[in-house]
Amino acid sequence: MNEYDSELVRSILIKENYEFVTDELKADIVLLNTCAVREHAHRRVYGRVHNIRHERGKDSLVMIGILGCMATNLRQSLLEDRSLKIDFIAGPDSYKRLGQLIREAADNGQKAYDVTLSEFETYSDITPNRTDGVNAWIAVMRGCDNFCTFCVVPYTRGRERSRSPENVLKEVRQLACEGFKQVTLLGQNVNSYRYENHDFAYLMDEVSRVEGIERVRFTSPHPKDFPDRLLDLMAANPKICKHVHLPLQAANNRVLNLMNRTYTKGEYLKLVNKIRSKIPNITLTTDIIVGFPTETDAEFEETLQAVIHAQFDSAFSFKYSERQGTIAAKKYPDQVPETVKTDRILRLNKVQNEITYKKNRAHIGQVFEILIEPTPQDKPSHHSVGRTGGNKLVILSKKDYKIGETVQVMITDATPHALKGHPL
Ligand code: SAH
Ligand code: SF4
Repeated sequence: MNEYDSELVRSILIKENYEFVTDELKADIVLLNTCAVREHAHRRVYGRVHNIRHERGKDSLVMIGILGCMATNLRQSLLEDRSLKIDFIAGPDSYKRLGQLIREAADNGQKAYDVTLSEFETYSDITPNRTDGVNAWIAVMRGCDNFCTFCVVPYTRGRERSRSPENVLKEVRQLACEGFKQVTLLGQNVNSYRYENHDFAYLMDEVSRVEGIERVRFTSPHPKDFPDRLLDLMAANPKICKHVHLPLQAANNRVLNLMNRTYTKGEYLKLVNKIRSKIPNITLTTDIIVGFPTETDAEFEETLQAVIHAQFDSAFSFKYSERQGTIAAKKYPDQVPETVKTDRILRLNKVQNEITYKKNRAHIGQVFEILIEPTPQDKPSHHSVGRTGGNKLVILSKKDYKIGETVQVMITDATPHALKGHPL
């Protein structure tokens, strides 16, 4: 979502005649688009700002602006921190005012900020300035009404609101004309999308009908919003990628209840079974938090067993990180010791990595349609890379493919992180 928001910001500022450079050492204004979901993300932003100030010298005229969730969450402390010297701050619903905020900060030398949350802002009138040539992110809804007790998002991004299907479809048609082959529908709770009487399944179906678009993805859904209609559509529609990211967070019912996730372990695993029976080759991935306040060893063990039972293709696992202003921060002191959190996350990662490797190896000998993507910088340039519909990264033995091309590939090898393949 932040990548997408950065594309929106680029578009808004280009219209105001700002020019973008990629090297922060050459910029007159540096914008940091931030995440507030975990403490780790916070610390990285502080580190980056200090680095920029250090590299550019004390008397440089460079201006630094903080965008995104951290802006909403920490406005006061960011502005008051004298060592950071932040010039302006814009929350996720204030990007249209950025030009004005920059001018205010530049002209008056005063700190400018706007972190107001809107019930309506969806940026539906802004066409993002996109860079990737294969996948286009497109936010179809913003905000979150779920209030999981650990999560800061409902406070930093405000209430749920959706764009109209016509507006989304107009943009997708335009994207197809520009040569994008894949769209990823985005939202904090993307499957809670609702506009008048249209739901997420309706939107996905319509988007997949746009000529030129070959693949449709979505992230992140909440397990509470998976009606049969959506799963049946996914199963039947070849353009909808067979990948569901289904955040579990924890498997013990007491912990899930304290988290306010609104499902039990049984309900979650039943949904996993249903997804697998309707869409047999589905890639399932998840998010897990270890060390939520009061989580016992036995309760963590239950999460570990559920991970083994569900056989996820991969998982993002996080140590619980207390966020200011959340219900958990108010009601449940962060009391699981750091060493215990570390031990749990290491055990979880070990178990999951073995499953991921086994799942990747199961692809060997099979043929997949691969959509060629730009080669990431850390991959050798004499290879092409692409993805399966299930979102697995595939490294091809030849390099002569165009970005956006679809290639039939036989998988010949697998590592825990990627597949290797030979084009047929
Ligand atoms: N809306 C998505 C998640 C968005 S945040 C959903 O409900 O699934 C992405 C992930 O960050 C979450 O799934 C959760 O695993 C993690 N996360 C959020 N708040 C956290 C916190 N306070 N500490 C640790 N991890 C957290
Ligand atoms: Fe946060 Fe829960 Fe909303 Fe996801 S659903 S953004 S975890 S409050």
